Amino acid sequence: MTMSSSCDLLITNVHVATMAVSGVPYGAIYNADIAIAEGKIVDVGPMVQSLWQGAHTLNGAGCWVTPGLIDCHTHLVYGGDRAREFEMRLNGASYESIARQGGGILSTVQATRAASETELLTSATGRVQRLMAEGVTTVEIKSGYGLDRDTELKMLRVAKQLEAQLGLHVESTFLGAHALPAEFAGRPDDYIAFVCGDVLPEVAAAQWASSVDIFCEHIGFSTRHAARLFAAALQYGLAVKAHVEQLSDLKGAVTAAKYGALSVDHIEYLQAEDIAAIKSAGSVAVLLPSAFYYLNETQKPPVQALREQGVDLAVATDHNPGSSPLLSLLTALNMACVLFGLSPEEALLGATRNAAKALGLARKGQIAPGFDADLCLWPMEHPSELSYAINQHRPVAVLIGGELVGQ
Ligand SMILES: [Zn+2]
Repeated sequence: MTMSSSCDLLITNVHVATMAVSGVPYGAIYNADIAIAEGKIVDVGPMVQSLWQGAHTLNGAGCWVTPGLIDCHTHLVYGGDRAREFEMRLNGASYESIARQGGGILSTVQATRAASETELLTSATGRVQRLMAEGVTTVEIKSGYGLDRDTELKMLRVAKQLEAQLGLHVESTFLGAHALPAEFAGRPDDYIAFVCGDVLPEVAAAQWASSVDIFCEHIGFSTRHAARLFAAALQYGLAVKAHVEQLSDLKGAVTAAKYGALSVDHIEYLQAEDIAAIKSAGSVAVLLPSAFYYLNETQKPPVQALREQGVDLAVATDHNPGSSPLLSLLTALNMACVLFGLSPEEALLGATRNAAKALGLARKGQIAPGFDADLCLWPMEHPSELSYAINQHRPVAVLIGGELVGQ
């Protein structure tokens, strides 16, 4: 008889895409078992079954196990939708005439301000459940459709309630600097002063968010505004993320890197000479192929140059009502492969290990001892299928913190 340690759950008879650095594709371990105790992975490998006595056992029946998927960039709390505007545009209306009729981002701001907290929670719950059905166990949610103190805080409260009610991990980001509200028309400096001086301190004090974000673009805010926001964020102990180089090259990524950004997101117009700054800051490059697709853009992010310089790549849905009404992270992985040329392994790393890094989560996104037991079991022959197929795969079991979801 061999000595065995006890654990809460033993998952047997699986292949494991650990996504850890291991020198083999996907960090794969074939014919393995996973031991879980107190919500953490305590052991993974072949023969683990003979070393651990589980209070419960789950026979994986030859499934592949991946880390729970992480959608590291969404705007999924909002009121209303933009379907009518989509239709008007395709019927030939110009952006200008749509804007004159109250369309665009400011229509979502209006609807979000008007919605009650319960209404926002109900609509966002449905969206998160769709992501979870595909194996998402951590989601990042940005504010940014309030653009006033009360609505920004309302959105961040809803994000916390989603975590409490649905049991997944929610990482909240304060995106007060998403757009210029009508009340501050022509006064972007005053608005950034308001965001930094009136809203940010409250967000930080109540720990409503762990990061700040800004839409740095010629139709958004300048790098000077970004630098001011980032300096304030660091003072309050918040991390920095940024929407940069989506439609033009403003050097927003370089500005964000100066402040040690966790991630620089979109980056279609990022120039090769600016990649070294991102690499040395350790920022993750977050690719958002669904927004690229939806806006029918042509300028692609410099993936090969990012790869050559060793920048970590993540992939997210960017779910939002205007430019990416997508609630499928697996579809975003497929788009990252087809549109941007990622390999299926790079795409899956982008929704696991590198997505965790983009959120500053040191204990998520990999299957190794000490990591959170957020796991998905997939009935498939090889992990490349997750990026290959479109709307075909659902996990047969999902664990969050070692607990089976839906049990
Ligand atoms: Zn976004």
